[in-house]
Amino acid sequence: MADFVLLISDWYRLNARELPWRNTKNPYFIWLSEVILQQTRVDQGMNYYLKFIENYPILNQLANADEASVLKLWQGLGYYSRARNLHQTARQVRDEFGGEFPQTYAEIIRLKGIGPYTAAAISSFAFDLPHAVVDGNVYRILSRYYGIDEPIDTGKGKKIFQELADSLIPTSDPALFNQAIMEFGAIQCTPNNPDCESCVLNQSCGSAFNPELIKKLPVKKGKTKVRKRYFHYLHIEKELEIALDQRTGKDVWEKLYEFPLIESDNDSVPSEFKDSATLCYQTKHILSHQHIYAYFYKTEKSEIEGLDLTFVDKNQLADYPIHRLMEKYLESDS
Ligand code: SF4
Repeated sequence: MADFVLLISDWYRLNARELPWRNTKNPYFIWLSEVILQQTRVDQGMNYYLKFIENYPILNQLANADEASVLKLWQGLGYYSRARNLHQTARQVRDEFGGEFPQTYAEIIRLKGIGPYTAAAISSFAFDLPHAVVDGNVYRILSRYYGIDEPIDTGKGKKIFQELADSLIPTSDPALFNQAIMEFGAIQCTPNNPDCESCVLNQSCGSAFNPELIKKLPVKKGKTKVRKRYFHYLHIEKELEIALDQRTGKDVWEKLYEFPLIESDNDSVPSEFKDSATLCYQTKHILSHQHIYAYFYKTEKSEIEGLDLTFVDKNQLADYPIHRLMEKYLESDS
């Protein structure tokens, strides 16, 4: 066990990438980077991280910003609930802690939208507390190294891996161990074809040079079902105005803006504008649990039965936070 910790920590000292959030103990910056990196690659997330700390260098500035500005800055990064939670949690820290990030794991994990992984990351990186992070990288290394085939997407499996990681994390420099194990998963013990030949753990790893085990681990029990949806958008312009709606309700792209939409269960032109609109763009947009078949139509009409249209100044369209599907359409239309 000690060898694992020692080897992985030494490996990290030699191989760690230089990343801007690694040179700070500022819990706000660390939290920001963790939220951005949750579903985003490092190279894509880097610019967003830099933009956020430039625009909102202090947590209270983010808290005091209006939601549309935060969503606009987040535009293109996807999974917008992260941005909304980020903003609301910043307000919670402002209101309940005077803008200073709480310094204990128990207080951090009580904040809105912060789960065990993020709480452990902030506690260890900012405050040197020995709480082990368990993300996809950590599941992969621990399952392969220790040969654990317990599924990682069950309560029981999560508990087993968390307890194992907690038993490994040293009390001296827990941040280094957390950084090391995640970095090791990101660049050494990769999901496909890890290079066991060059691996410092290859003498003790239970899966070393075993392609079958490597492919099998970590085990996942259930595959997520993909939902098919059909979105029919209307591009309507009236002199200098354009029809635009804000999405409401608990659904994808909550609170972002888009053209008036009719969702149906098939790809046929909706009856509301069957005779008055022309299809000008179609695409399949893939989200993690949904495949959206999107159709964009243009029409000369400025009133459509069954649709309550809102028009905004066409020149100000760029100021509204919109989702990636809308961006794709606007790029194709320009
Ligand atoms: S020996 Fe291979 S499978 Fe084991 S930790 Fe190293 S890269 Fe991963």
